[in-house]
Amino acid sequence: MDFELTDEERAFQEAVRRFGDRVLRPNERRIDAEHRIPAEVLSAMAELGLLAMPVPEQYGGMGASAVLTEIAAEEVGRGDFSMATAVFFLLEAGWGHVLARYGTDATRQEVLPAVTRGKAFLGVATTEPTGGSDLQGMHTTSRRDGASFLLRGEKAFVSGVEEAKELGGGHLTLTRSGAGSGFNLLYVATRTPGISTQRFDNMGRMGISTGALTYQDARVPEAALVGSEGKGFECAMEGFSVARTFVSAACIGAAERALETGIAYIRERKAFGQPLGKFEAIQFELVDLWTQVEAVKWQCRRAAWLLDRTLLRGDLARRSEVDRLVASVKLTAPQVAFECVRRVMMWFGAAGYTKDVGLELGFRGIMSYLVGAEGGLNIMRIILGRELLGKEFVPYK
Ligand SMILES: Cc1cc2nc3c(=O)[nH]c(=O)nc-3n(C[C@H](O)[C@H](O)[C@H](O)COP(=O)(O)OP(=O)(O)OC[C@H]3O[C@@H](n4cnc5c(N)ncnc54)[C@H](O)[C@@H]3O)c2cc1C
Repeated sequence: MDFELTDEERAFQEAVRRFGDRVLRPNERRIDAEHRIPAEVLSAMAELGLLAMPVPEQYGGMGASAVLTEIAAEEVGRGDFSMATAVFFLLEAGWGHVLARYGTDATRQEVLPAVTRGKAFLGVATTEPTGGSDLQGMHTTSRRDGASFLLRGEKAFVSGVEEAKELGGGHLTLTRSGAGSGFNLLYVATRTPGISTQRFDNMGRMGISTGALTYQDARVPEAALVGSEGKGFECAMEGFSVARTFVSAACIGAAERALETGIAYIRERKAFGQPLGKFEAIQFELVDLWTQVEAVKWQCRRAAWLLDRTLLRGDLARRSEVDRLVASVKLTAPQVAFECVRRVMMWFGAAGYTKDVGLELGFRGIMSYLVGAEGGLNIMRIILGRELLGKEFVPYK
């Protein structure tokens, strides 16, 4: 087993870190205030190959491994502390993979080259106003009508609703199959007639919209089907495994940034005649947090390594191992990151409560992964409970 990055991986990591320092950090406050990621930032991401990284080269992507994408996600999370750019990055990486693997060639050609150039957005729509955890209880339907599907229903809390309307693009949308059993996963362009959107007023990661999509007999072509009819649920679960790994990586990058900020401060700031870092009460907190970040970071890298050997190759035989690892990383990384930000805010005292120091950006952004984005913490616990005890102990799908 080799824990070293290859020369190529290290060079890419350094390039994305430079991009984070030169482009993301100077723009993060603007991203938060203007509620959008500036076009020049998206162009720079496209130039570096950061958009939908795992998508094969024939559709404009890098064909990047999950490990390389995970490394990049960490750097994006470190660069834009508000998490908005990380969300944009990881949704396209995770769901770009699903579309590239299971979409029809017509839809791949239509969507993926534009997404990788930053000229369209790609996200996922599974959550409904009645809930996001219990996906089997969803109501939105896609009914076959000749060579197309008619969608009826509503999705809620979906990331990128406005970006997909303004830039172009859409969402891989999970719907109940009109045939009665199973689920269809469909690529649904947001500008399709019969779709309306609404932006919600979030508390954080303001640079990417979250909102509702309402479908009133919105017609999408048969070619929009991702995977086979009635089997969309499995494809969606695959996308969640991939995207949750990158969510966790972004949280780890943010955690590292919080600790770096904190270390610089407690070396300099004095109280009672000595730097804060000389007080064991603070030094030990730093050590405990660093240890937790280090542990989850390597667990996350291992999850990406496993994805490269399984799902990204189309091998589903080790699904259970993937589920276990990804759920434990997604359960841990956002909590560790949030705790790092919270503790470092306290080391700063009153200054930590100001926007000048900027820790509140991370506080608001990371919180989205605690309340539910890409699956709530208890859903990760349910997956792990099912894996550790068996399905008979977990009455949910
Ligand atoms: C900023 C943000 C962006 C998002 N982006 C997207 C997106 O792009 N696309 C999309 O489809 N969705 C998105 N979501 C929605 C997200 O997937 C849901 O929040 C999540 O699935 C939980 O659903 P819910 O919010 O309806 O909570 P509910 O399902 O109502 O659950 C409420 C709480 O109860 C817990 N809970 C539920 N069931 C159980 C149980 N059996 N045992 C114990 N606890 C349980 C949950 O963990 C949660 O804490 C986003 C959410 C946020 C906050």
